[in-house]
Amino acid sequence: MLAGLGDWLARHRRMIAAVQWIVVAIYLALLIVPTLLPMPDRSARIWTNVTLAAQFVFWGLWWPFVLLSVALVGRLWCGVLCPEGALSEAVSTRSRGYAIPTWIRWKGWPVVAFSLTTIYGQMVSVYQYPRAALVVLGGSTLAAVSVAFFYGRNKRVWCRYLCPVSRVFAVLAKLAPLHYQVDARSWQSWQKPRGSTQARINCAPLVAIGNMRGNAACHMCGRCSGFRGAVTLARRSPNHEIVHVAGNETSAVDTLVILFGLLGLAAAAFHWGSSSIYIDVKLTVASWLIEHGQTWPLQAVAPWWILTNYPNQSDVMTLLDGAVLIAYLMVFAALTGVVIGGCIAAAARLLGPWSPARFHHLVQSLIPLAGCGVFLGLSMTTVTLLNQNGILLSFVGGLRATLLAGAAFWSLWLGWRIAGVHGRSIARLAAMLPLAAAVGTGAAIWTSLFWRF
Ligand code: SF4
Repeated sequence: MLAGLGDWLARHRRMIAAVQWIVVAIYLALLIVPTLLPMPDRSARIWTNVTLAAQFVFWGLWWPFVLLSVALVGRLWCGVLCPEGALSEAVSTRSRGYAIPTWIRWKGWPVVAFSLTTIYGQMVSVYQYPRAALVVLGGSTLAAVSVAFFYGRNKRVWCRYLCPVSRVFAVLAKLAPLHYQVDARSWQSWQKPRGSTQARINCAPLVAIGNMRGNAACHMCGRCSGFRGAVTLARRSPNHEIVHVAGNETSAVDTLVILFGLLGLAAAAFHWGSSSIYIDVKLTVASWLIEHGQTWPLQAVAPWWILTNYPNQSDVMTLLDGAVLIAYLMVFAALTGVVIGGCIAAAARLLGPWSPARFHHLVQSLIPLAGCGVFLGLSMTTVTLLNQNGILLSFVGGLRATLLAGAAFWSLWLGWRIAGVHGRSIARLAAMLPLAAAVGTGAAIWTSLFWRF
Protein backbone atom coordinates (compact mmCIF):
# COMPACT_ATOMS: atom_id res chain seq x y z
CA MET A 1 0.00 0.00 0.00
CA LEU A 2 2.84 2.39 0.87
CA ALA A 3 4.65 1.60 -2.37
CA GLY A 4 1.38 2.37 -4.19
CA LEU A 5 1.18 5.71 -2.41
CA GLY A 6 4.68 6.58 -3.60
CA ASP A 7 3.78 5.59 -7.16
CA TRP A 8 0.59 7.65 -6.89
CA LEU A 9 2.67 10.72 -6.02
CA ALA A 10 4.90 10.03 -9.02
CA ARG A 11 1.89 9.79 -11.36
CA HIS A 12 0.04 12.87 -10.12
CA ARG A 13 2.60 15.60 -10.62
CA ARG A 14 0.09 18.00 -12.13
CA MET A 15 -2.24 17.70 -9.20
CA ILE A 16 0.64 18.24 -6.77
CA ALA A 17 1.71 21.30 -8.75
CA ALA A 18 -1.85 22.69 -8.51
CA VAL A 19 -1.85 22.15 -4.74
CA GLN A 20 1.54 23.87 -4.52
CA TRP A 21 0.21 26.94 -6.31
CA ILE A 22 -2.77 27.09 -3.96
CA VAL A 23 -0.36 26.99 -1.00
CA VAL A 24 1.76 29.72 -2.65
CA ALA A 25 -1.33 31.93 -3.01
CA ILE A 26 -2.37 31.40 0.64
CA TYR A 27 1.21 31.99 1.82
CA LEU A 28 1.57 35.27 -0.10
CA ALA A 29 -1.86 36.47 1.06
CA LEU A 30 -1.07 35.72 4.71
CA LEU A 31 2.30 37.39 4.37
CA ILE A 32 1.25 40.57 2.57
CA VAL A 33 -2.37 41.38 3.49
CA PRO A 34 -1.75 41.89 7.27
CA THR A 35 0.97 44.47 6.51
CA LEU A 36 -1.67 46.61 4.74
CA LEU A 37 -4.07 46.58 7.68
CA PRO A 38 -3.96 48.42 11.03
CA MET A 39 -2.76 46.45 14.03
CA PRO A 40 -5.65 44.62 15.74
CA ASP A 41 -7.20 46.10 18.88
CA ARG A 42 -7.78 44.19 22.10
CA SER A 43 -11.28 43.02 21.12
CA ALA A 44 -10.05 41.35 17.90
CA ARG A 45 -10.09 37.55 17.65
CA ILE A 46 -8.28 35.15 15.35
CA TRP A 47 -11.58 34.31 13.62
CA THR A 48 -12.55 37.97 13.07
CA ASN A 49 -9.22 39.62 12.27
CA VAL A 50 -7.00 38.79 9.29
CA THR A 51 -3.79 39.89 11.03
CA LEU A 52 -4.41 37.66 14.03
CA ALA A 53 -5.54 34.81 11.77
CA ALA A 54 -2.30 35.09 9.76
CA GLN A 55 -0.26 35.20 12.98
CA PHE A 56 -2.02 32.07 14.22
CA VAL A 57 -1.59 30.22 10.92
CA PHE A 58 2.10 31.10 10.52
CA TRP A 59 3.34 30.70 14.07
CA GLY A 60 0.61 28.69 15.79
CA LEU A 61 0.00 26.04 13.13
CA TRP A 62 2.44 26.23 10.27
CA TRP A 63 5.80 26.09 11.99
CA PRO A 64 5.13 23.68 14.89
CA PHE A 65 3.15 21.22 12.78
CA VAL A 66 5.49 21.32 9.79
CA LEU A 67 8.25 20.41 12.22
CA LEU A 68 6.16 17.58 13.63
CA SER A 69 5.28 16.35 10.14
CA VAL A 70 8.96 16.08 9.24
CA ALA A 71 9.55 13.72 12.16
CA LEU A 72 6.48 11.68 11.19
CA VAL A 73 6.60 11.47 7.38
CA GLY A 74 9.98 12.92 6.41
CA ARG A 75 10.31 16.08 4.36
CA LEU A 76 7.00 15.63 2.57
CA TRP A 77 6.32 19.26 3.41
CA CYS A 78 9.38 20.34 1.41
CA GLY A 79 8.60 18.16 -1.59
CA VAL A 80 4.86 18.57 -1.84
CA LEU A 81 3.66 21.70 -0.03
CA CYS A 82 6.41 24.22 0.70
CA PRO A 83 5.63 27.49 -1.16
CA GLU A 84 9.26 28.57 -1.18
CA GLY A 85 10.37 25.30 -2.73
CA ALA A 86 7.55 25.44 -5.31
CA LEU A 87 8.41 29.01 -6.30
CA SER A 88 12.09 28.18 -6.40
CA GLU A 89 11.53 25.21 -8.72
CA ALA A 90 9.09 27.14 -10.94
CA VAL A 91 11.58 29.98 -11.42
CA SER A 92 14.34 27.44 -11.99
CA THR A 93 12.61 26.22 -15.17
CA ARG A 94 13.55 29.61 -16.71
CA SER A 95 16.84 29.98 -14.90
CA ARG A 96 20.00 31.32 -16.49
CA GLY A 97 21.30 27.85 -15.69
CA TYR A 98 24.70 28.85 -14.31
CA ALA A 99 26.68 26.05 -12.63
CA ILE A 100 26.28 26.04 -8.86
CA PRO A 101 29.37 27.84 -7.54
CA THR A 102 31.56 26.41 -4.80
CA TRP A 103 30.56 29.13 -2.32
CA ILE A 104 26.92 28.06 -2.51
CA ARG A 105 27.90 24.44 -1.88
CA TRP A 106 29.62 25.37 1.40
CA LYS A 107 28.08 23.03 3.99
CA GLY A 108 28.01 25.64 6.73
CA TRP A 109 25.36 27.88 5.13
CA PRO A 110 22.32 26.19 6.69
CA VAL A 111 23.84 26.64 10.17
CA VAL A 112 24.74 30.28 9.54
CA ALA A 113 21.36 30.99 7.94
CA PHE A 114 19.44 29.27 10.76
CA SER A 115 21.40 31.17 13.43
CA LEU A 116 21.05 34.57 11.75
CA THR A 117 17.35 34.07 11.05
CA THR A 118 16.66 32.98 14.62
CA ILE A 119 18.53 35.94 16.12
CA TYR A 120 17.13 38.47 13.65
CA GLY A 121 13.61 37.10 14.18
CA GLN A 122 13.91 37.85 17.90
CA MET A 123 15.34 41.31 17.27
CA VAL A 124 12.33 42.35 15.17
CA SER A 125 9.70 40.30 17.11
CA VAL A 126 8.80 38.22 14.09
CA TYR A 127 6.03 36.31 15.90
CA GLN A 128 4.16 39.49 16.80
CA TYR A 129 4.32 41.88 13.87
CA PRO A 130 3.27 41.35 10.22
CA ARG A 131 5.91 43.67 8.79
CA ALA A 132 8.62 41.74 10.61
CA ALA A 133 7.20 38.46 9.28
CA LEU A 134 7.20 39.94 5.77
CA VAL A 135 10.85 40.92 6.05
CA VAL A 136 12.00 37.57 7.53
CA LEU A 137 9.85 35.13 5.53
CA GLY A 138 9.49 37.28 2.43
CA GLY A 139 13.23 38.01 2.44
CA SER A 140 13.93 34.28 2.51
CA THR A 141 11.49 33.68 -0.36
CA LEU A 142 13.03 36.48 -2.41
CA ALA A 143 16.50 35.04 -1.85
CA ALA A 144 15.26 31.56 -2.83
CA VAL A 145 13.76 32.87 -6.07
CA SER A 146 16.88 34.91 -6.88
CA VAL A 147 19.14 31.88 -6.45
CA ALA A 148 16.77 29.83 -8.62
CA PHE A 149 16.89 32.47 -11.33
CA PHE A 150 20.66 32.20 -11.69
CA TYR A 151 21.75 28.70 -10.71
CA GLY A 152 20.75 25.21 -11.81
CA ARG A 153 17.85 24.28 -14.08
CA ASN A 154 14.64 22.65 -12.82
CA LYS A 155 16.35 22.29 -9.44
CA ARG A 156 15.90 23.50 -5.88
CA VAL A 157 19.37 24.87 -5.27
CA TRP A 158 18.16 27.06 -2.42
CA CYS A 159 16.47 24.17 -0.62
CA ARG A 160 19.49 21.92 -0.97
CA TYR A 161 22.25 24.33 0.06
CA LEU A 162 20.93 27.53 1.61
CA CYS A 163 17.47 27.28 3.20
CA PRO A 164 17.75 28.27 6.91
CA VAL A 165 15.69 25.28 8.05
CA SER A 166 16.94 22.69 5.58
CA ARG A 167 19.46 21.14 7.97
CA VAL A 168 17.00 21.20 10.88
CA PHE A 169 14.51 19.32 8.69
CA ALA A 170 17.25 16.98 7.48
CA VAL A 171 18.11 16.10 11.07
CA LEU A 172 14.49 15.55 12.13
CA ALA A 173 13.64 13.52 9.01
CA LYS A 174 16.01 10.84 10.28
CA LEU A 175 13.32 9.93 12.82
CA ALA A 176 10.59 9.41 10.24
CA PRO A 177 9.20 5.87 10.01
CA LEU A 178 8.73 6.35 6.23
CA HIS A 179 11.42 6.59 3.59
CA TYR A 180 12.14 5.94 -0.04
CA GLN A 181 14.06 2.71 0.11
CA VAL A 182 16.62 2.18 -2.64
CA ASP A 183 17.58 -1.35 -3.59
CA ALA A 184 21.20 -0.79 -4.62
CA ARG A 185 21.45 -4.09 -6.52
CA SER A 186 18.35 -3.41 -8.64
CA TRP A 187 19.51 0.15 -9.20
CA GLN A 188 22.93 -0.92 -10.48
CA SER A 189 21.80 -3.90 -12.53
CA TRP A 190 18.97 -2.01 -14.24
CA GLN A 191 19.26 -1.59 -17.96
CA LYS A 192 17.08 0.67 -19.95
CA PRO A 193 14.77 -1.50 -22.09
CA ARG A 194 15.37 -1.07 -25.79
CA GLY A 195 12.99 1.50 -27.20
CA SER A 196 11.95 2.62 -23.70
CA THR A 197 10.72 6.19 -23.53
CA GLN A 198 11.01 6.34 -19.75
CA ALA A 199 12.27 9.82 -18.92
CA ARG A 200 15.16 10.50 -16.58
CA ILE A 201 14.11 11.37 -13.06
CA ASN A 202 14.59 15.00 -12.13
CA CYS A 203 15.34 15.02 -8.41
CA ALA A 204 14.88 18.72 -7.70
CA PRO A 205 16.87 18.78 -4.40
CA LEU A 206 19.79 17.08 -6.16
CA VAL A 207 19.83 13.82 -4.23
CA ALA A 208 22.08 11.08 -5.62
CA ILE A 209 19.16 8.63 -5.61
CA GLY A 210 21.18 5.48 -6.28
CA ASN A 211 23.30 6.10 -3.18
CA MET A 212 20.49 7.31 -0.93
CA ARG A 213 20.45 5.44 2.38
CA GLY A 214 18.54 7.87 4.56
CA ASN A 215 15.88 10.54 4.65
CA ALA A 216 17.96 13.64 5.36
CA ALA A 217 18.23 15.07 1.85
CA CYS A 218 15.11 13.51 0.29
CA HIS A 219 12.07 15.78 -0.09
CA MET A 220 9.71 12.79 -0.37
CA CYS A 221 8.28 14.21 -3.58
CA GLY A 222 7.76 10.69 -4.94
CA ARG A 223 9.08 11.45 -8.42
CA CYS A 224 11.55 8.59 -8.29
CA SER A 225 9.09 6.05 -6.87
CA GLY A 226 9.41 2.82 -8.85
CA PHE A 227 12.33 4.12 -10.91
CA ARG A 228 14.57 1.30 -12.19
CA GLY A 229 12.38 -1.01 -10.14
CA ALA A 230 14.60 0.02 -7.22
CA VAL A 231 12.91 2.86 -5.34
CA THR A 232 9.96 2.14 -3.04
CA LEU A 233 8.18 4.09 -0.35
CA ALA A 234 8.52 1.84 2.69
CA ARG A 235 8.22 1.62 6.45
CA ARG A 236 11.19 1.40 8.78
CA SER A 237 11.95 1.69 12.47
CA PRO A 238 12.24 5.35 13.61
CA ASN A 239 15.59 4.34 15.13
CA HIS A 240 16.99 2.74 11.99
CA GLU A 241 18.63 5.69 10.26
CA ILE A 242 20.18 7.15 13.40
CA VAL A 243 21.59 3.86 14.65
CA HIS A 244 22.58 2.15 11.40
CA VAL A 245 23.01 4.87 8.75
CA ALA A 246 24.04 8.08 10.51
CA GLY A 247 27.28 6.51 11.74
CA ASN A 248 28.51 6.15 8.15
CA GLU A 249 27.39 9.64 7.15
CA THR A 250 28.56 11.59 10.17
CA SER A 251 28.52 15.32 9.77
CA ALA A 252 29.94 18.13 11.90
CA VAL A 253 27.16 20.33 10.49
CA ASP A 254 24.49 18.09 12.00
CA THR A 255 26.33 18.20 15.32
CA LEU A 256 26.36 22.01 15.24
CA VAL A 257 22.66 22.10 14.37
CA ILE A 258 21.70 19.73 17.20
CA LEU A 259 23.98 21.05 19.99
CA PHE A 260 24.21 24.77 19.28
CA GLY A 261 21.19 25.33 17.04
CA LEU A 262 18.29 23.33 18.44
CA LEU A 263 19.33 22.70 22.06
CA GLY A 264 21.10 26.06 22.42
CA LEU A 265 19.96 28.93 20.22
CA ALA A 266 16.37 27.79 19.65
CA ALA A 267 15.84 27.17 23.38
CA ALA A 268 17.31 30.60 24.20
CA ALA A 269 15.07 32.27 21.61
CA PHE A 270 12.02 30.84 23.37
CA HIS A 271 12.93 31.91 26.90
CA TRP A 272 15.09 35.06 26.82
CA GLY A 273 12.09 37.35 27.34
CA SER A 274 11.36 35.85 30.75
CA SER A 275 14.96 35.23 31.77
CA SER A 276 16.00 36.89 35.04
CA ILE A 277 19.63 36.73 33.85
CA TYR A 278 18.76 38.74 30.73
CA ILE A 279 16.96 41.36 32.83
CA ASP A 280 19.73 41.53 35.48
CA VAL A 281 22.45 41.99 32.86
CA LYS A 282 20.44 44.70 31.17
CA LEU A 283 19.81 46.58 34.43
CA THR A 284 23.45 46.30 35.47
CA VAL A 285 24.74 47.63 32.15
CA ALA A 286 22.07 50.38 32.10
CA SER A 287 23.09 51.55 35.60
CA TRP A 288 26.73 51.59 34.57
CA LEU A 289 25.92 53.59 31.43
CA ILE A 290 23.88 56.15 33.39
CA GLU A 291 26.63 56.50 35.99
CA HIS A 292 29.05 57.27 33.18
CA GLY A 293 26.73 59.73 31.47
CA GLN A 294 26.16 57.54 28.40
CA THR A 295 22.42 57.44 27.81
CA TRP A 296 22.33 57.05 24.04
CA PRO A 297 22.24 53.22 24.16
CA LEU A 298 19.06 53.55 26.22
CA GLN A 299 17.17 55.15 23.33
CA ALA A 300 14.90 53.24 20.95
CA VAL A 301 16.30 54.82 17.81
CA ALA A 302 16.69 51.81 15.52
CA PRO A 303 13.95 51.34 12.88
CA TRP A 304 11.46 48.45 13.32
CA TRP A 305 13.31 46.31 10.75
CA ILE A 306 16.45 46.36 12.88
CA LEU A 307 15.02 46.32 16.39
CA THR A 308 11.39 46.10 17.52
CA ASN A 309 10.04 49.65 17.48
CA TYR A 310 6.27 50.00 17.82
CA PRO A 311 5.65 52.92 20.23
CA ASN A 312 1.88 52.74 19.59
CA GLN A 313 1.91 49.19 20.97
CA SER A 314 4.22 50.25 23.84
CA ASP A 315 6.73 47.76 22.45
CA VAL A 316 10.18 49.14 21.73
CA MET A 317 13.74 47.86 22.05
CA THR A 318 16.57 50.16 22.95
CA LEU A 319 20.03 49.67 21.53
CA LEU A 320 21.02 48.17 24.89
CA ASP A 321 18.06 45.73 24.74
CA GLY A 322 19.19 44.62 21.30
CA ALA A 323 22.85 44.24 22.24
CA VAL A 324 22.09 42.26 25.41
CA LEU A 325 19.58 40.11 23.49
CA ILE A 326 22.14 39.15 20.85
CA ALA A 327 24.82 38.48 23.47
CA TYR A 328 22.40 36.42 25.59
CA LEU A 329 21.34 34.22 22.68
CA MET A 330 24.90 33.61 21.54
CA VAL A 331 26.35 32.96 25.00
CA PHE A 332 23.48 30.63 25.93
CA ALA A 333 23.89 28.68 22.68
CA ALA A 334 27.67 28.43 23.15
CA LEU A 335 27.42 27.29 26.79
CA THR A 336 24.72 24.73 26.05
CA GLY A 337 26.63 23.35 23.09
CA VAL A 338 29.88 23.12 25.04
CA VAL A 339 28.35 21.50 28.15
CA ILE A 340 26.22 18.94 26.31
CA GLY A 341 28.89 18.40 23.67
CA GLY A 342 31.42 17.84 26.48
CA CYS A 343 29.25 15.08 27.97
CA ILE A 344 28.88 13.40 24.59
CA ALA A 345 32.63 13.69 23.99
CA ALA A 346 33.24 11.95 27.33
CA ALA A 347 30.85 9.16 26.29
CA ALA A 348 32.63 8.81 22.94
CA ARG A 349 36.01 8.61 24.69
CA LEU A 350 34.79 5.95 27.12
CA LEU A 351 33.87 3.79 24.14
CA GLY A 352 37.43 3.80 22.78
CA PRO A 353 40.21 6.00 21.40
CA TRP A 354 39.03 9.47 20.42
CA SER A 355 37.06 9.36 17.18
CA PRO A 356 35.22 12.40 15.75
CA ALA A 357 32.95 10.03 13.78
CA ARG A 358 31.85 8.28 17.00
CA PHE A 359 31.29 11.65 18.69
CA HIS A 360 29.11 12.91 15.81
CA HIS A 361 27.21 9.64 15.76
CA LEU A 362 26.45 9.82 19.49
CA VAL A 363 25.25 13.43 19.16
CA GLN A 364 22.50 12.12 16.85
CA SER A 365 20.94 10.34 19.83
CA LEU A 366 19.79 13.78 21.03
CA ILE A 367 17.58 14.37 17.98
CA PRO A 368 14.30 13.25 19.65
CA LEU A 369 14.88 15.53 22.64
CA ALA A 370 15.98 18.50 20.52
CA GLY A 371 13.09 18.07 18.07
CA CYS A 372 10.49 17.64 20.80
CA GLY A 373 11.77 20.72 22.64
CA VAL A 374 11.61 22.91 19.56
CA PHE A 375 8.13 21.60 18.70
CA LEU A 376 6.91 22.38 22.24
CA GLY A 377 8.64 25.79 22.15
CA LEU A 378 6.94 26.70 18.87
CA SER A 379 3.61 25.39 20.10
CA MET A 380 3.79 27.83 23.03
CA THR A 381 2.66 30.45 20.50
CA THR A 382 -0.25 28.17 19.54
CA VAL A 383 -1.29 27.81 23.17
CA THR A 384 -0.81 31.53 23.96
CA LEU A 385 -2.85 32.66 20.95
CA LEU A 386 -5.65 30.21 21.75
CA ASN A 387 -5.66 31.34 25.39
CA GLN A 388 -5.85 34.98 24.32
CA ASN A 389 -8.89 34.05 22.25
CA GLY A 390 -10.66 32.35 25.13
CA ILE A 391 -9.74 28.76 24.25
CA LEU A 392 -8.07 27.24 27.31
CA LEU A 393 -6.15 24.01 26.86
CA SER A 394 -5.97 22.66 30.39
CA PHE A 395 -4.29 19.41 29.30
CA VAL A 396 -1.23 21.16 27.86
CA GLY A 397 0.97 20.91 30.97
CA GLY A 398 0.52 17.13 31.26
CA LEU A 399 0.98 16.64 27.52
CA ARG A 400 4.22 18.64 27.53
CA ALA A 401 5.60 16.67 30.46
CA THR A 402 4.69 13.36 28.81
CA LEU A 403 6.23 14.33 25.45
CA LEU A 404 9.42 15.66 27.03
CA ALA A 405 9.86 12.60 29.23
CA GLY A 406 9.17 10.32 26.24
CA ALA A 407 11.67 12.21 24.06
CA ALA A 408 14.33 12.08 26.81
CA PHE A 409 13.91 8.30 27.19
CA TRP A 410 13.96 7.88 23.41
CA SER A 411 17.26 9.81 23.27
CA LEU A 412 18.68 7.62 26.04
CA TRP A 413 17.59 4.48 24.20
CA LEU A 414 19.20 5.76 20.97
CA GLY A 415 22.36 6.56 22.94
CA TRP A 416 22.40 2.99 24.27
CA ARG A 417 21.90 1.54 20.77
CA ILE A 418 24.60 3.76 19.23
CA ALA A 419 26.99 2.96 22.08
CA GLY A 420 26.36 -0.71 21.24
CA VAL A 421 27.56 -0.07 17.68
CA HIS A 422 30.86 1.34 18.96
CA GLY A 423 31.58 -0.58 22.16
CA ARG A 424 30.66 -3.56 24.28
CA SER A 425 29.61 -4.39 27.86
CA ILE A 426 31.48 -2.31 30.44
CA ALA A 427 32.49 0.53 28.08
CA ARG A 428 28.93 0.77 26.80
CA LEU A 429 27.53 0.93 30.33
CA ALA A 430 30.11 3.52 31.37
CA ALA A 431 29.31 5.68 28.34
CA MET A 432 25.67 5.83 29.45
CA LEU A 433 26.62 8.01 32.44
CA PRO A 434 27.82 11.06 30.45
CA LEU A 435 25.11 10.36 27.88
CA ALA A 436 22.50 10.54 30.63
CA ALA A 437 24.08 13.80 31.80
CA ALA A 438 23.78 15.20 28.26
CA VAL A 439 20.12 14.15 27.97
CA GLY A 440 19.42 15.43 31.51
CA THR A 441 20.93 18.84 30.72
CA GLY A 442 18.93 19.14 27.50
CA ALA A 443 15.74 18.05 29.24
CA ALA A 444 16.36 20.52 32.09
CA ILE A 445 16.70 23.39 29.62
CA TRP A 446 13.35 22.61 27.99
CA THR A 447 11.71 21.88 31.33
CA SER A 448 12.80 25.28 32.68
CA LEU A 449 11.10 26.87 29.67
CA PHE A 450 7.67 25.54 30.67
CA TRP A 451 8.02 25.22 34.43
CA ARG A 452 10.29 28.09 35.35
CA PHE A 453 13.03 27.30 37.85
S1 SF4 B 1 15.11 11.15 -3.90
FE1 SF4 B 1 14.62 13.04 -4.99
S2 SF4 B 1 13.10 12.45 -6.53
FE2 SF4 B 1 13.19 10.78 -5.03
S3 SF4 B 1 11.55 11.23 -3.56
FE3 SF4 B 1 13.46 12.08 -2.75
S4 SF4 B 1 13.45 14.21 -3.46
FE4 SF4 B 1 11.94 13.13 -4.72
